[in-house]
Amino acid sequence: MIHPQPHLAALAPYGLVDMAVAPGKAFVSLAQNESALPPSPRALLAAEAALADSSLYADSRWTFLREAIAQVHRVDPNQILCGAGSMELISILMQAFTGPGDAVLTTQYAYAFFQTAARISRAEYVAVAETEMTVSVDALLAGVTPSTRLVCVANPGNPSGTRIPGAEIRRLRDGLPGDVLLLVDEAYGEFADDLDDGVFDLVERGDTLVFRTFSKAYGLAGMRVGWGLVSPAIAAEMRKVQNPGSITNVSLAAAAAAMSDQTYMRRTVIETSARRDGFIAGLRGVAAKPIASHTNFVLMDFGTREVAASADRALRAEGVLMRGMAGYGLPQCLRATIGRERAMTLASETLKNWSQGECP
Ligand SMILES: *Cc1c(COP(=O)(O)O)cnc(C)c1O
Repeated sequence: MIHPQPHLAALAPYGLVDMAVAPGKAFVSLAQNESALPPSPRALLAAEAALADSSLYADSRWTFLREAIAQVHRVDPNQILCGAGSMELISILMQAFTGPGDAVLTTQYAYAFFQTAARISRAEYVAVAETEMTVSVDALLAGVTPSTRLVCVANPGNPSGTRIPGAEIRRLRDGLPGDVLLLVDEAYGEFADDLDDGVFDLVERGDTLVFRTFSKAYGLAGMRVGWGLVSPAIAAEMRKVQNPGSITNVSLAAAAAAMSDQTYMRRTVIETSARRDGFIAGLRGVAAKPIASHTNFVLMDFGTREVAASADRALRAEGVLMRGMAGYGLPQCLRATIGRERAMTLASETLKNWSQGECP
């Protein structure tokens, strides 16, 4: 008999959306928070040009990408760590800094991968209650124990879409012991940048990390590129467990060009946010309560598990896949990514028709 490590045997595979629709039916996925718009044409051209370098290993220092990020965000390139998606950064952070006997502290509806990565590291995963689907700094601070090594907050959050002000993140940091790391995962940060409420400066303290990704606002989910602002001492430990070639030449080139095309990214954010607000407005009269969102998705609360399942069946019958939330302890909810215009119209119309049948 071959036996896996016991902590892995107890772990379910990372949950993604159930892709089941009627056989032969075309479907549209509104389940993975992928961008509603294609990537910048400049990113695609750069990726195509980089294919010619395919016989070479990629630059493991990510020089051009780090320079592009540093220029746009006015940060020190020596504080930038890149990874194959921010998922890789979360993974290597947990591997480098947490293990048996340590606790990873987060909140009730935190991003699911925090739990996966913590359990792979054999750390204890602790989630404190949220208040109205929003991170509670008081609950987090009350949840700290001597074994807490790392606190993780996605801001804005996934799957909630809610966010807390930068001042609350600062209050959290100030209230945490100096030997506790704080990760602020800003995978949707670009959707809140106009609030001018950033916390990048906290990284200077040497105990705080801020992660971003090219998967959401930049529309490069399939390229697998994330980046983090990380103090050099922390980054040095994370790099020890990172595959030095985890980001390909093509992905590096695409991401650097996408970063340099801020005009395109900003347009994507504006267009997506407008489409999101239109979708939410269209839910009036539908038996689904949308949660206010600062992201490219909307969490909808249908009240009960049965009503959510009924809506999910109606959407699937039209080929629209949303993300079921039972894995997050929210079986009464569905999460809708804001996708292409036609998909949103179809989703909206389907929900209206469904709601009329459900609640005549
Ligand atoms: C999508 C997402 C990520 C990870 O994205 P990558 O594609 O790995 O960069 C990280 N955190 C949150 C909260 C997300 O929603």
